Amino acid sequence: MTSVSQFVRVVQLELNEENELHLDRKTKFAVRIIQFFLQEIIKSFGYERKTFSLESISASSENLHLEIKDVEKNFVTHVCKYSIDLETVETELVWKDVAKKLVQSNHFDRKTECKWLVIGHSRRPKATSDALEEPLLAEGGGGLALFIQNNITRWPESIGDLVSVLKGEGSISKAQYSHSLGAMLHELCHTFDLGHAPKGIMNRDFAHFLDVFEFLLLKNEAENLSTQDCLIPPKVFGSTIFTKEGLTVLNRHLWLNHTFLSLESEVVLQGTRIDFSSPRSAARLMFIQFWVEGLVVKHIDLDVGCNSFALGRDHLCGIETNGGEKILVLVMDDVGNVFKRFIDLYELYMSK
Ligand SMILES: [Zn+2]
Repeated sequence: MTSVSQFVRVVQLELNEENELHLDRKTKFAVRIIQFFLQEIIKSFGYERKTFSLESISASSENLHLEIKDVEKNFVTHVCKYSIDLETVETELVWKDVAKKLVQSNHFDRKTECKWLVIGHSRRPKATSDALEEPLLAEGGGGLALFIQNNITRWPESIGDLVSVLKGEGSISKAQYSHSLGAMLHELCHTFDLGHAPKGIMNRDFAHFLDVFEFLLLKNEAENLSTQDCLIPPKVFGSTIFTKEGLTVLNRHLWLNHTFLSLESEVVLQGTRIDFSSPRSAARLMFIQFWVEGLVVKHIDLDVGCNSFALGRDHLCGIETNGGEKILVLVMDDVGNVFKRFIDLYELYMSK
């Protein structure tokens, strides 16, 4: 057992077409905004306030407050130079390429403790313009969330700027900034083992992302309430929410709990039976999910907690498997370790 504290490492991707643009404050501010949003949404929906830590500061020691004053001193970012022709290369290939580059670089020194949030800015306009200004590229999974956008120069870099955006007086619209922040959080949550969902953030609904900040910075001010420890009513999040299953994963996830990483825990598949072993005798399985094409189609809570579970035909009830031969099974233990295994659908249909 190794004592570590998991964190998110932010890397700014310097694309070939860019000379040094000073976007450090804007990207850092955006990352702090999504870190804060995650803390508040988890709290509002019934769990303890918790969020991911950033490198060199821990979110676990205290609740984050909105007074994000000295942004550039808050956490470190890394810079990675990268050449890419965004026009011709597929998103997934760019993601793999960036992941490979990170693995080979000195940004990979603490791989078991960190997830990467890689943010790049490109001056290139999109071929088709869209009102929400979709990112040029957004892809997340494993340990890497990658996000490339062409409007970062217009992002706010302070609470004052953010208030201007909320009032419709900023250089980016509230809807556009909401969309970028939501997209970043969506990709980052893939690295926290969230699959796609039928609604909310994991279904790319980011429309109400900034409503929380409007509530805290504009409406609360009027009502003379403190932003500290103010509980945001769930309805403020509108449709920009997580499903119950998504919140369950986040609430337990290693990256949001800063617990000890139990490297020796293991999940073994014996046919269609899941066997869990851990050096901690009290360790238990917490839940199992089925994923089809990235969408979470079933979530099975193991109420009592156990370390062996037999999957069978009944568990496929009501699931559209889209003609696939295997189904992805995600298993989480009680300290937030996640295991993903493929199970043969035929074997599953054949077992009772
Ligand atoms: Zn996604």
